[in-house]
Amino acid sequence: MQPVAYIVSEELVRVSSLLPSNRNRSLLVHSLVSAFGIQSLALPDGQRCIKFLRPRRATSKELLAYHTRDYLDFTLNPSNDYEDLSQVAEFGLQDDCPPFKGIQEYIPLVAGATLTAVYAFKENICEVAVCWDGGRHHAQKSHASGFCYVADCILAILALRRLPPSPSSGPPRRSRVMYLDLDLHFSDAVSHAFHNPSVTAMSQVLTFSIHHAAPGFFPVSPLSSLPNPEDALFDPFTLSLPLQKGASCRTFARVWPIIERIKDTFQPDFIVVQCGVDGLAGDPMATWNWSIGGLGSLGWCIDRIVHSWSGKKLLLGGGGYSSPNAARAWTFLTSVAAGRPLSLDAEIPDHRVFPLYQPSFTLDVAAGNMQDQNSNEYLQHIEDVFGRVQAILQRLSGESP
Ligand SMILES: [Zn+2]
Repeated sequence: MQPVAYIVSEELVRVSSLLPSNRNRSLLVHSLVSAFGIQSLALPDGQRCIKFLRPRRATSKELLAYHTRDYLDFTLNPSNDYEDLSQVAEFGLQDDCPPFKGIQEYIPLVAGATLTAVYAFKENICEVAVCWDGGRHHAQKSHASGFCYVADCILAILALRRLPPSPSSGPPRRSRVMYLDLDLHFSDAVSHAFHNPSVTAMSQVLTFSIHHAAPGFFPVSPLSSLPNPEDALFDPFTLSLPLQKGASCRTFARVWPIIERIKDTFQPDFIVVQCGVDGLAGDPMATWNWSIGGLGSLGWCIDRIVHSWSGKKLLLGGGGYSSPNAARAWTFLTSVAAGRPLSLDAEIPDHRVFPLYQPSFTLDVAAGNMQDQNSNEYLQHIEDVFGRVQAILQRLSGESP
């Protein structure tokens, strides 16, 4: 097994910690990974499980693979005083996405961090890469949105689909990239970027977002409902699985076979997983009741993906507004990805932000008491809908359903 590539540098932590919606979260995450000594984990043969990779800054050319020149000229201009309110509004730099000191460094560095993982795949340095500062799934081509200023997920998918497919993919074909989004919020920007309702053959990119849905819940998008093959917008490669309030491990364990069947039909060479943790119990969003350990948990999903799915996997961050819980979850997921899962009962090691882990001072992010409102009838309906989607995908892949 090759070591897992873990993307980090002091500069990335410093700059990512300036993100207004998640101030200092990056510092907590990387400090906890380090405090648990994950960088020193080794396999029985003495080989290291983790390889730290320093990110580089994305170049203008790389950012222009998706973002518009106007957006980059405005956000990356060091002398911009953001006093032109019409432009501030045009580029979405208001409300939940204010301009912030460091934005000129943040955008190229976070994009570069995620693209460093793509580079590591290209150079066969690793099969699994982790970039907790990435996963900015709401950022659009020329518009910041939902705490996201840089479309690193989209840039990574665009770069991955240019790499050669895995050698075991059979007859010559182009690479396939599956994007799976586990954040509480719908992956609107990523889903829209690759949405093509007139698709008639296998696509190179399949996006699948599992998210909370309720009237008015951010982000409002026509693509965030259950897929409907009769709808004019239907694209079997742009999939959405909306869940109700209180979604718990039980619900995720029930819907997980749907995701695996879609993956088996699509046969991706690369899997990009947005591991937003705002659906975990204890998050200020207080919407789902998911946890990190046990059947159907976030940790269980990542263990399945990393250790049972073929293809190269890129794990990204995302939402998560309890910084200590985001640090707990992503530290645990790093250990899962490395094949050396930490005990959820493990005590938080003493380190400089130790007091923030009160009152439990342990690693676990356990479920709370919220009721799971995903009824058996609703989950059955989801299974029926995806049974039809699955049949369409199989036809497109040339398999008999
Ligand atoms: Zn979110």
